[in-house]
Amino acid sequence: MKCYQVAMIGSGAWACAAARMVAQNALENTSGMFDTKVKMWVYEENYEGRKLTEIINERHENPKYLPGVSLPENLVAMPDLLEVTEGADLLIFCSPHQFVRGVLKQLAGKVKKGAVAISLIKGMRVRVDGPQLISQMVERMLGIDCSVLMGANIAEGIAKEELSEAVIGYDNLDNAYVFEKVFQRPYFEVKLIPDGPGAEMCGTLKNIVALAAGFVDGLGYGPNSKAAVMRQGLSEMMNFSTRLYPSIRSETFLESCGMADLIATCYGGRNRKVAVEYASSWQAGAPQTFDALEASLLNGQKLQGVMTSDEVQEILRMKGWEQDYPLFTTINRIIHSQLDPSYVVKYKEGAGINI
Ligand code: NAD
Ligand code: 13P
Repeated sequence: MKCYQVAMIGSGAWACAAARMVAQNALENTSGMFDTKVKMWVYEENYEGRKLTEIINERHENPKYLPGVSLPENLVAMPDLLEVTEGADLLIFCSPHQFVRGVLKQLAGKVKKGAVAISLIKGMRVRVDGPQLISQMVERMLGIDCSVLMGANIAEGIAKEELSEAVIGYDNLDNAYVFEKVFQRPYFEVKLIPDGPGAEMCGTLKNIVALAAGFVDGLGYGPNSKAAVMRQGLSEMMNFSTRLYPSIRSETFLESCGMADLIATCYGGRNRKVAVEYASSWQAGAPQTFDALEASLLNGQKLQGVMTSDEVQEILRMKGWEQDYPLFTTINRIIHSQLDPSYVVKYKEGAGINI
């Protein structure tokens, strides 16, 4: 049987929680399917006067991005990207979406022949010729198959081994079976679905809706308003995704990557958390910027929803679809201070629709 070498590319909160599961599986595999050493690429930085990689390898913990969680000793943090991916058969991409292109440029032409990938990244890119999913970017720049793993997966809960579910959206079923073995844990239930683009669009777009949920919470509106905004958000997610990628299946929105991730993120995610403070700061008459709030509230972790809103809005503008997606459009106007956050509950008006 083949013995797969696994590499994790990224070391933030989710990357560490996911790498923890991968390394646990590699250590426990009795069939010898995986090399027990799992390498993790860390974007090197100084933490408390020392290199973060050294601290992770010494303490078996990432005190900056996932504090208080012990990491298996067979998970090795390394600052050199090419050293991490050298010889790797399975590449797991999990860095904030704005950094992936830079990472892929360094890897182009340098990955092992026969290697395959999976992306845990929620986000997309806008090219002149249209949108590009992160998995498509990996496939295009590295010339390898790329599945996706998406779900209601707030890192801290999974690190505590609380029950969670995810889907692997695949094009190549054989590769998906291998990745299922990489991630499946007693507390982490993985299901395979033949709809990679659907799963990835869900994971990407729910970050925008979570901003709206945060505005609703920050302004002190109750559960009816929050449910209304989440319902509209899900409806726009489905419509936009299937309009861009007609092969996307409607049942994908009922999986963990869809409605479940929307709920988890709108109640407990970072996008919501920062949006709550954004709306509160407006209400208090002292508006703050998202950049400032991200820096003060997230300790180096990265928000994805604000950039994704801009990326999606660019597509809506290019295609003349802005008024077809009034919640997305209103959220984008709110984050650019063109509208007061209270427009989140008047999103048709916010998008300029006559009612
Ligand atoms: P994070 O936001 O916790 O951490 C930010 C990471 O970016 C750090 O590892 C930092 O070292 C790295 N970084 C900073 N500057 C960089 C640069 N110039 N180049 C490369 N890396 C740089 O990261 P995360 O939570 O692991 O998020 C990664 C992806 O996973 C995102 O797309 C996110 O949406 C997704 N995701 C996150 C969660 C979660 O609960 N955190 C859950 C599911 C999916
Ligand atoms: P946040 O980035 O808003 O924390 O969302 C995490 C997530 O994607 C949970 O599945």
